[in-house]
Formats: sequence, structure tokens, C-alpha cells
Amino acid sequence: MNKVTFEVHGDVAVVKLENPPVNSLGLELRQALVDSVERANSDSGVKAVVLIGSGAGFSGGADIREFGTPKATTYPNLQHVLHAIEDSAKPVIAAIGGVCMGGGLELALACHFRVSVPGAKIALPEVKLGLLPGAGGTQRLPRLLGAEAALNMIVSGSTVASEKLRATPLFDAFGDGDLLEFALGFARSVIGEAKAAKRVRDLPLVVPNAEAFFQFARNTVKALAGPYPAPLACVEAVAAAATKPFDAGLKRERELFVGLMLSPESAALRHVFQAERAASRILDVPEDTPLRPIRKVGVIGAGTMGGGITMSLINAGLPVVLLETKQEALDRGLATIQRNYQSALRKRTLNEASLAQRLALITPTLDYAALRDVDLVIEAVFESMDVKRQVFQALDEVVKKGAILASNTSYLNLDQIASFTRRPEDVIGLHFFSPANVMRLLEVVRGAKTAKDVLATAMRLAKTMGKVAVVSGVCDGFIGNRMLGRYATAAHDLLMAGALPLEVDSALQEFGMAMGPFRVGDLAGLDIGWATRKRLSAEHPDKDFSNVSDVLCEAGRFGQKTGAGWYRYEAGSRNPIPDPAVTQIIEEYRRKKGFTARQVSPTEIVERCIYALINEGARILEEGIAQRSSDIDLVYLNGYGFPPYRGGPMFYADQTGLQDVARAVERIAAQPGSDPAAWKPAALLTRLARQGQTFSDYKGSAK
Ligand code: NAD
Repeated sequence: MNKVTFEVHGDVAVVKLENPPVNSLGLELRQALVDSVERANSDSGVKAVVLIGSGAGFSGGADIREFGTPKATTYPNLQHVLHAIEDSAKPVIAAIGGVCMGGGLELALACHFRVSVPGAKIALPEVKLGLLPGAGGTQRLPRLLGAEAALNMIVSGSTVASEKLRATPLFDAFGDGDLLEFALGFARSVIGEAKAAKRVRDLPLVVPNAEAFFQFARNTVKALAGPYPAPLACVEAVAAAATKPFDAGLKRERELFVGLMLSPESAALRHVFQAERAASRILDVPEDTPLRPIRKVGVIGAGTMGGGITMSLINAGLPVVLLETKQEALDRGLATIQRNYQSALRKRTLNEASLAQRLALITPTLDYAALRDVDLVIEAVFESMDVKRQVFQALDEVVKKGAILASNTSYLNLDQIASFTRRPEDVIGLHFFSPANVMRLLEVVRGAKTAKDVLATAMRLAKTMGKVAVVSGVCDGFIGNRMLGRYATAAHDLLMAGALPLEVDSALQEFGMAMGPFRVGDLAGLDIGWATRKRLSAEHPDKDFSNVSDVLCEAGRFGQKTGAGWYRYEAGSRNPIPDPAVTQIIEEYRRKKGFTARQVSPTEIVERCIYALINEGARILEEGIAQRSSDIDLVYLNGYGFPPYRGGPMFYADQTGLQDVARAVERIAAQPGSDPAAWKPAALLTRLARQGQTFSDYKGSAK
């Protein structure tokens, strides 16, 4: 398909970008642009050129799927296109509507004039992928907006509405109404007034006290950038624009860009970007699967999760029937929802009127009959198969045919839950994370009988609620909690080996985890796991589920809520303070279990905990529980505080090299006391390592 169309309107050539959905600047489009500029220049009837987008707008920028492939460097690259435009003898006018981002904005900046209308979205968002604008954006934008405003846009990567920039020299004209008509009118005035082609590169950039200004910018950005190198590189590139001739500045921008392109942080962020796009594709569910309409939703249980789920739904404008067993529980749940909105009111991200509108979408009830006409029900009652059975049997009786019945269970077998109904094909797991109104992750659990359109509808609903949805098969704990189990056990094993909670937490936080496992335990409450272990011990008296945290719980140390857990807490503070009493409990427990304390290094801590995740992740992939390794990464990034600059556990393993990971897992497995259930190397890990492949290469067993 031709990626641009070329039409002549009187003496103006209109070159329209036609590369849906966002006119990304892939090789074919770049080639077509160069050809169009040549064609316009060799056509004596053409006096000016209008470059305009189609569909979503002007252009969303580079085609990031080309990064790292031969296409990215094949002639013409984006710089060649920009030179062809800039050197065009006939003036080229960018007509900017809709998205104009990244390479798209750089393309517009190389044109001789820019016109726009309200509603266009202007941005240089490369920093969000750990990069900087590498096709002159850092050199040309400051020449139009000034160093400070340009730097703000480049370092933040944020989107600015065109109307906010209407009075700046970025635009030569700003109109209302039809963009093409407006651009054609402007082109005719350029021809009529014989306005010379104007090149942004020729404009001066004067920054008063440049040295002090850029030093201040460096200091500020450094403090905010954390482990990411890109924001500081953006400052350096803009500093080059202010202190060097244009071509030398461009050269500096390129050097910095190439450096970032090779950085592990950018590789990780680009991986995450692509992972999010891949996650919504389900291997055996066609993209055009008809969806079931979701206009009204029932939520069962107004506790921690039911409340958060209700908020996610009403925030997306969906009416909710919220069902509880007792009026007190319903009142408590509604009061919590109201309270949770207070901080949004305080921060002014929500006003009283919209809050009232949202709350009005909730219909509280104690009566199942109120669920008769809902299109979807999400169950969030106690984690007990008996309670789930009662609820699903009741739903099966009242809810209309074709409605989707979802469970928020964390661990229970979804297929068994589905079997409580006469419509297992309509049953699915929607595993939200706490707090459900805040956390982006949604595990969509596909049962053995879940219908494809139910799955496709759930994925769409996730998007409507602004969530990142990942499909998981049925297993104990699904993707996230199943891996978490291995991670938590590895952390406890380290205590038995000789480490203390603070050492384990610090090493993992240094690695980049948002919070170490013992701090997480104190935050979530140690009593939850204790209750589970007691239940499991009663169910399987032959097995040992005990754990040193049982001793903490027996002493009433449930975590932050009791002022003491793995750490102690001063009243009203969440700051964890190491507690000698805990050290003593751990030492006694070690002795009782026959362990001798040894020195445990931070490297060993990270290796054991992260490799435990990876080994289990490999099994999950091999069993087809996850569709692709990048889905597992998304679960850990969005649900468990894994650092984005490491791209997720499976990507981290790929970057480390699977041979090294496999060797380390084998070494740990061979150590005395290592539980084979955790440490037996996953067959997939061993195989890929032997073949010199990565998890990303693995395409799964053909389903
Ligand atoms: P919760 O105890 O806070 O809330 C459960 C609510 O369900 C209570 O308000 C209770 O009154 C109500 N309820 C109990 N039986 C009911 C019935 N038969 N009909 C209607 N309402 C009933 O529990 P929670 O933390 O919100 O967990 C709910 C579910 O979500 C569980 O399956 C849990 O495993 C899962 N989950 C919890 C979390 C979490 O972090 N808390 C995260 C993900 C999933």
C-alpha cells in the first residue's frame, strides 16, 4: 500500500501521510516522503507543499518495531527525510492536527512553516522510552520555544495541547475549522507574498547565563531522574543547542541518542512498551471476536476488594449493583468508598459534582434479584470455596443468560468455581490487585471452558478501566502469586541461612524493588499468611507449613497494624525500625531447625530471590499458563513493584543471559537444604540456555 498520497490543489501539492493507525515513520513512509518532495520540486506547476496527516493525526513518530532492525538504518532514515524537506526549494508547510509526537514533531520542525488547529497533541515523549529525540528535536524545538520551555517538554515527555502553544513561534498560523483548508489558505499566502522558505536551524538560540541555567537544570533533573540516564542526556543535548553551531549540536544529539539506545534502561523501557501492546493479543482469539456489551455490572462483597473494584468501574462510568449479605457490611463498604475518594477531592483531581455523579452510579442491595439484568458480575467475597459455591449457585439462578460471571479469587481453582454453575463458558477470573482502584494490573484468568468472546470482552473491559490486563491459565496463585510464593520462601530461607530482614529488604530495594519482602509483609499483615498456614496444616497434617513468621504472629506481631512485625513502628509512623527482639526470634528459630548462621552477601540475596521468581516464571511459561514471557514481566512490573528499568524478571533473565541464570539455579539447587520443588531448574530454562536462546524467543507450544 502507498504510504502517502500526492494531490495537487491549484499550485499547492498536498502530501498526505497514510500509515494507520498513527502514521508512524517506518521505512516505506520515509521513502515515500522523500519521493514526494522530489516530485513536488520537479513539478513546475507546484509552488508550495502541504504535509498533512490522516486518521489519528499528523504522526505519532518512529515505528519502534524497527528499532534494532536493518530497516532502522536503511536509506532514507529520518534525518535524510528531514534534510530533503529542509533543503526543498519549494516551501513545505506542516499542517498539524491530532497526534504530533516524537519523530512526527521532529518532521514538522524540519518544515519551513507549521500551522495547526485546536486539539492537536504535541510532544517529544522519547524520554519515556529512555531515549531523547534523536532527529533534531533537541536542537530545533528550543530555537522556537526557548530553552526552558523546550527543555520542560523534552525532559518530561509530556503532551501539550496545541492551543496552549498557539501564541508561540512554533506555529506560523493557528486556525479553527478544517485543517486542510486552513493549510491551503496559508500556503497560498506564502506563494502570494513570496515568503521565503524559513529554516528553524537558521534561527538563533540565545540563553542568558547559559552556564548557570544548564547547571541548575542538571542539578534539578539529576535529583528526579533516579537510575535513568535519559533525562540528563536531554539537558546535555539542549545545552549543545545553546552553545554549539547547529550541525555540531545535531552531532552531539546523535552521540547522546546512540548512547541511550544502547543503555539497558532504554532496552527495558522499550520492552515494557511493546509488552503492553502484545498483552492484549490472545493467541487463539481473533482480534475481531464480537464482544458482549457491558452496560451494567454487579459486584458481590463490599470489602477491601469489592470496594476498590466498584471504584474502578464507576470511574469508567459503569453503573454498579453492589451486593452484601448484611446492611452493616454494605454501609461500611460504602463509607470506605466515600473515604477513599476524599484524597482525590483534596488533591483536586476530582470535584464534588463528579464525585456525586460517580457515587450515584452505585445501587447498594442485599437482594440477588437486583442482579437480574447485569451484563457482568464480579465476585469478591471471602476466599473460601464454600462461600464461592453459594454465591455462584445463587448467581446462576438469577443472572440473565449471556452475562459474564467473574471471580476475583487469588488462589482458588477457577474451573471448580465454574462448575458450580450451568454455564461454565461464561465464567472467568478477574484478579484485581489491592488497592483495586489504584493498581494497574488485572490478571484475566481463563478457565478450561471460558468462551473466547468472554475473554475478549474481559480484555476490553480492562482497557475501559485503564488497566493492564494479562491472561493467565488456571493454577494455584495464577502467574503473580504463584511466583510470589517462591520469592517469599527464598526470602525466608535467607533468614535461616543467616541474613536479617533489613539485610534482605535493603539488598532487594537496592536492586530496585519498590519494597523488600519483609516490609511488604508488615504492610499487608502477617496474620493472613499465618491463617492460611494453619488451615493447610489442618488439611495436610503430614506436611510442615510452619515458618518463623508464625512465631511473630504468636507474639501478636502482625505488622504495621499492631505496631510490630518484622520491624517495629512508632505510633502513627510507617517507618520500619529493626528490632532486636526479632533478631532473637530468628536466631532461636534457626537453632531449633538446626541451621547455622553464615555470612550472606547482598548479591546472594538478590540472586536467590530474583532467580526463584525466574525459575517459576519459566515453568509458568512452559506450562502455557502465561502466553509469553513479556506477560509475566507485566505482572511483576504492575503488580509487585519490580523496577521498570530492569524490564521485568524474564527480561532481566534474558539480559543477564540464560546460561548464567541456569548455572546459578543449578548451583543453588545442589546446595544442602535447597527445596527441589523451588530450585529444580525449569526444563524450559535449561533448554533455552543450552540453545543460546532467550525467553523472548520462546513462542510457546502451539495452541
Ligand atoms: P474482605 O474480607 O475485605 O471482603 C469480603 C466481603 O465479602 C465482606 O465485606 C463480606 O461481608 C462479603 N461477603 C462474604 N460472603 C458474602 C456473600 N455470600 N455474599 C455477599 N458478600 C459476602 O476480603 P477481600 O480482601 O476484599 O477479598 C475478597 C476476595 O478477593 C477474596 O477471594 C480474595 O482472595 C480476593 N483478593 C484479595 C486481595 C487483597 O489484597 N485483599 C487481592 C486480590 C484478590
